[in-house]
Amino acid sequence: MTLIAVLGSTNMDLVAYVTKAPQRGETVTGREFRTIPGGKGANQAIAAAHAGADVTIIGAVGDDTYGAQLRSTFEHSGVDTDHLRTVEGASGTAHIVVDDEGGNAIVVIPAANGTVDHLAPGDEALIASADALLLQLEIPLAAVVAGAEAARRHGVRTILTPAPAQPLPPELLAAVDLLVPNEHEATALTGHTDPRKAAAALLDQVPEVIVTLGAAGSLYAARGAEPFTVPAPQVTAVDSTGAGDTFVGALAVALAEGRPTRDALGWAAAAAALSVQRPGATASMPYRAEIDKQYA
Ligand code: ATP
Repeated sequence: MTLIAVLGSTNMDLVAYVTKAPQRGETVTGREFRTIPGGKGANQAIAAAHAGADVTIIGAVGDDTYGAQLRSTFEHSGVDTDHLRTVEGASGTAHIVVDDEGGNAIVVIPAANGTVDHLAPGDEALIASADALLLQLEIPLAAVVAGAEAARRHGVRTILTPAPAQPLPPELLAAVDLLVPNEHEATALTGHTDPRKAAAALLDQVPEVIVTLGAAGSLYAARGAEPFTVPAPQVTAVDSTGAGDTFVGALAVALAEGRPTRDALGWAAAAAALSVQRPGATASMPYRAEIDKQYA
């Protein structure tokens, strides 16, 4: 079976739904409160597991109740938690206010995620045994670099989602096989607002780039090849939270299974299109049979 390792963040999202977000000094009464497992590492791990791979998450949660809940969310989704450490203190949290227009304001407190600044004993052996390593930027950069370099040493494909957008050190880019920014991140990394120009600029640093384009699909570019776009299925989106992570999780599974790139992109777009039609991030991530049906 395909084995995917994910090195990244795990958060509990604490979401308050309000008519209008409070201004400074103001108190408002909200409509609803939900706790939703999140963090880009967790999201990508759960997406890949639902898409049919054996997945192991490398990261950390705190020794609080959220940590226990997050661990059990992984276990219910079939994600292996042998490399998920429990550290003293709080789990990562994201404090989110969502208003009636769908706008949001978010405070992220990394907490336990901030302790993931190195690879622990055994992490490199796990990475070496994987078909792909998925990385994002919600844990300290030192660990992201160490993970990518470990993967490179063992010939394991690395897929980096450069979010939240920030300058990337050359030693990280040198160890990345496939970079998957959204349009905003592609612009932040290159200064180009045209995704084709941004992708072309990024190919100076990494061999393959996919820019995700929301409802417009995705753009694939590789050194020495003509770039092409793959459309997204036209659907009615109710909540696009986690669409990018669902896309990357499914894409990693399809590529690791050896599917041709265009086919893998179409299958990942089918997975993401299913996820945007349902509320929530991890709860909305589709299973393999549903993705196959949508893609058929
Ligand atoms: P998010 O931050 O919401 O997780 P993102 O900004 O990282 O997403 P997007 O480019 O918005 O990434 O979306 C990723 C992929 O999800 C797209 O390439 C597309 O396949 C799919 N997708 C997103 N929005 C829609 C939509 N409205 N309809 C169909 N597919 C969508």
